[in-house]
Amino acid sequence: MRSFTTLDLQYAHRFYGFKGEAQYLHGHTGILTIEVEDSVSAGVNMVFPCNEIKKTAWEVLQNFDHALVLREDDPLLPAILGVYEEQGVKNGIPANKQKGPAFKTALATAYPECRLVVTKETMTVEGMIKIVYDLLKDKLAIAKITFTSGVNGATQEYARPGAEKDRCPLCGIALNTDGVCPKCGYKHAQ
Ligand SMILES: [Zn+2]
Ligand SMILES: [Zn+2]
Repeated sequence: MRSFTTLDLQYAHRFYGFKGEAQYLHGHTGILTIEVEDSVSAGVNMVFPCNEIKKTAWEVLQNFDHALVLREDDPLLPAILGVYEEQGVKNGIPANKQKGPAFKTALATAYPECRLVVTKETMTVEGMIKIVYDLLKDKLAIAKITFTSGVNGATQEYARPGAEKDRCPLCGIALNTDGVCPKCGYKHAQ
């Protein structure tokens, strides 16, 4: 069975080099749905607690929220960083609190201090799904990701990821490598 959760991300981007109106800077509210697949865990009668899926995803994905997403070769990038620098906001300001840990993958690099994500490919809905999967595939047993943004939408299913994870019978989240629940401390009987 699958547990899924939805979160929304408000961001600005553009399709650099694209011959359409999307080459101009504009914004969206994107809606991301992440589906996690496993057996139903007997103790809690869940596949995975949806709030935990959301928490795990939001930890890194909040770097896309109220952020600017630009491709690495977009000439707007140095121009905007120059303005941020001049204004003294490039390296962060006290009011900028909603930040996840900075990340760098083959597809995207987050600069939470100035609410910027630099991508290798254009951040279409398809591009975002690739980025999200890459960021979360080791943390969640992802079966499907769907992303919609305005009239655009894309979806991708993934083959069942590896063996079933041992989950806590009390709170349903994955046990760590020592068989201990990181949330409540439950320990798997050896
Ligand atoms: Zn757009
Ligand atoms: Zn637990």
